[in-house]
Amino acid sequence: MAFDIQKIRDNFPILKRQVNGFPLVYLDNAATSQKPKAVIDCLVNYYSQYNANIHRGVHTLSQEATDAYEQARRKVQNHFSIAYPETVIFTSGTTHGINLVAHGFTTLLKKGEEVLVSAMEHHSNIVPWQMLCEKTGAKLKVIPMNEQGELRMEVYSELLSSKTRLVFVNHVSNALGTINPIETIIQKAHQVGAAVLVDGAQACAHMKPNLKLLDVDFYVTSAHKMCGPTGVGMLYGKKEWLEKLPPFQGGGEMIKEVTFEKTTYAELPHKFEAGTPNIAGGICFGAALDYLNHIGFDAITAYETELLAYATQQLQSIEGLKIFGTAPQKTSVISFNLEGIHPYDVGTILDKMGIAVRTGHHCAQPIMDFYHIPGTVRASFAFYNTKEEVDRLISAVKKAQKMLR
Ligand SMILES: *Cc1c(COP(=O)(O)O)cnc(C)c1O
Repeated sequence: MAFDIQKIRDNFPILKRQVNGFPLVYLDNAATSQKPKAVIDCLVNYYSQYNANIHRGVHTLSQEATDAYEQARRKVQNHFSIAYPETVIFTSGTTHGINLVAHGFTTLLKKGEEVLVSAMEHHSNIVPWQMLCEKTGAKLKVIPMNEQGELRMEVYSELLSSKTRLVFVNHVSNALGTINPIETIIQKAHQVGAAVLVDGAQACAHMKPNLKLLDVDFYVTSAHKMCGPTGVGMLYGKKEWLEKLPPFQGGGEMIKEVTFEKTTYAELPHKFEAGTPNIAGGICFGAALDYLNHIGFDAITAYETELLAYATQQLQSIEGLKIFGTAPQKTSVISFNLEGIHPYDVGTILDKMGIAVRTGHHCAQPIMDFYHIPGTVRASFAFYNTKEEVDRLISAVKKAQKMLR
């Protein structure tokens, strides 16, 4: 299939916007992606045609909403090659999924046992584990990274022992774009009997992970970074783990029977889905997956790889510009700084020219500490970005450099 970029851009109404008098160049896709019309229509259709609470009502609307919600669960299941639909838990997003698992492990971890996290984690994959270790007396250890922004796998192997119970690592670093070798990480962890949770928030917009092949214990992601709505995401867990973990929240929908003496919990997945969920979000997460699969991840990856190579080459040609994160295996994220200029100032000037980038520590302060920098400018590209937009970024960065130096 030829990649018809103009046709794809036409699917995203927001890309026609002007910002500060310029056509929008949206390069903050690692924070959240834009939404195609198929997803926007899905939301409008739900709220205007069959909005109702699910799993409860006997009436038609409730049936329709329940069917669409459960169908979306199947879409998520198929997309990620998951064996059982009940091991797909709808969450409010990656952060929720991680907290759910971390909370569950408070009852399974013992003092003296160890938890490994990577040095390039998002804060949402550090803080819950610190809280878990404080509660249980388990020890948090860090898998370090090198200057290119790759995990030091030889140190990882040394850190693993019979004391290791859990390993947490992101599939792709949101600050650097590094694709971590999660296949190897999972295999090695399993050799010592440790479970692995992979944070896929940054990966899933760029690739289609096969969770069955990966043999991962837990995988979490958010819909909003892959063309879906905000406030919804997925937690996948192996059945035996999800059955072992206690519920995270108590409330409606997650119970089988309630008396004041004792409550028995509902079967999976409802045990982890207390209260009225983000029904529209779940259904339209499914619509986002349909949309992405229609384009196809092979086409997306090929196009983004080209865009990344072009943007990297162009940025590198700017004198005094340094790129952070130069691993050979990368998604289309470029973190950089201009010598002697604060990233925030660069971001502000780019915005004046209609270019949206992220500046700051990208919720990954340990990475910034590693490089001894306050933050970076991060340009993150999606399959709907173009070479012309890269060119606009380059000339705007050059302009900012002249103004600020
Ligand atoms: C965005 C992101 C998160 C947090 O996702 P939420 O949707 O805000 O919960 C966690 N980890 C990584 C790697 C991310 O990119």
